[in-house]
Amino acid sequence: MATDRSFNPLEMAQRQFDTVADDLQLDDGARQLLRTPMREYHFNIPVRMDDGRVEVLRGFRVQHNDARGPCKGGVRFHPQETADTVRALAMWMTWKCAVADIPLGGGKGGVICDPHNLSSREQEQVCRGWVRQVARDVGPNRDVPAPDVMTNGQHMLWMLDEYETIHGERLPGMITGKPVGMGGSQGRTQATGYGVVYTLREALKELGIRPQDTTASVQGFGNVAQYAIELYRQIGGTTLCVSCWDQRDQTSYAFRKADGIDLEELRSITDRFGGIEREKARDLGYEVLDGDQWLDQDVDILIPSALENQINASNVERISPKVKIIAEGANGPTTPDADTVLKERGVFMIPDFLANAGGVTCSYFEQVQSNMNYFWDAGEVLGKLDQQMTAAYLAVSELAQHGGLYMRDAAYVLAIKRVVTACRDRGWI
Ligand code: GLU
Repeated sequence: MATDRSFNPLEMAQRQFDTVADDLQLDDGARQLLRTPMREYHFNIPVRMDDGRVEVLRGFRVQHNDARGPCKGGVRFHPQETADTVRALAMWMTWKCAVADIPLGGGKGGVICDPHNLSSREQEQVCRGWVRQVARDVGPNRDVPAPDVMTNGQHMLWMLDEYETIHGERLPGMITGKPVGMGGSQGRTQATGYGVVYTLREALKELGIRPQDTTASVQGFGNVAQYAIELYRQIGGTTLCVSCWDQRDQTSYAFRKADGIDLEELRSITDRFGGIEREKARDLGYEVLDGDQWLDQDVDILIPSALENQINASNVERISPKVKIIAEGANGPTTPDADTVLKERGVFMIPDFLANAGGVTCSYFEQVQSNMNYFWDAGEVLGKLDQQMTAAYLAVSELAQHGGLYMRDAAYVLAIKRVVTACRDRGWI
């Protein structure tokens, strides 16, 4: 799960965009506008550490495009964060909101830090410091942050509190992923993982496969992975293998059980950094393997739900011929080279910005509820989420079938067309 520093996600995002731009015969103006972010902020965040020292962290917010609505996207805390990663992720958010057909644009933020090495007070300082730098540039009608890799509801609440203190009023629609009871939405925690499975369920239906007859291997054991495993179990599927990043060893391990892993059991032996404890897992009858072996499993479905660049030219050939579907829970887990191989092999791809759009779709519902100050119950939120995700899946799959397109290409065509139309209608291009 470590990030490869030679891999540049922005080049990957631009390569994907250029291919579709060629197919759509987009003119130069549209290409120039959309292949780079419209606006970005880079800044220092001075943080007073618990021992009295000041540490200066580097922070970012990138606003890729807001033609369809205010920018939207998470803030990541990651020691290997780079400006280009944030740019790529912001661009993917534009396509994600467009494919999910919600009235929002694309943005992303980040801070180069490892929250595992920061106390709770220090993390609060990072959140407040980040907001102080962008307080005039984000907001309910401008750009709406949310949780992402290694950030959570508590971080969002600190950010909101700082923002509201600066602006002198309550503005709960400024951020999403807030804790329930503090402006958060029921279902937001489950939304991304559940959304992956709503699209997977539709794909299985389309391919005429019963979920009960399928097995899966999942990369990651964070929020997305855990809720994907939960709902996949509920629809009848069996997860045979899951991989997990171990913070102490700075390496990942895979955990396999022949008759299926037990989510609750594994959750109960997870340490405070989110890593599964290996000895305890062995005692419970799990085989502990090298982390990247999640990819080699003889399963029907792969669900990469960790970071970008995980299925690449160097490991794609290891994927079993049994694998029929890949549902990308993470953003950018498959590089274009690997994607070409999978396309040729006829693997059914549910691309990231479709598969994992459940998070931002629920964020949109959260914003609506925050602005109305009226909150829906979990059943209503998840029902609406299922409806929106299913509609998005069907729109992409219909285009794929009619145009004879690979699912990723169809999703790109749909999203880019929608964004280009909004830019044209506004008279920008
Ligand atoms: N970070 C999530 C994503 O990559 C959610 C973003 C949001 O809710 O705004 O889609």
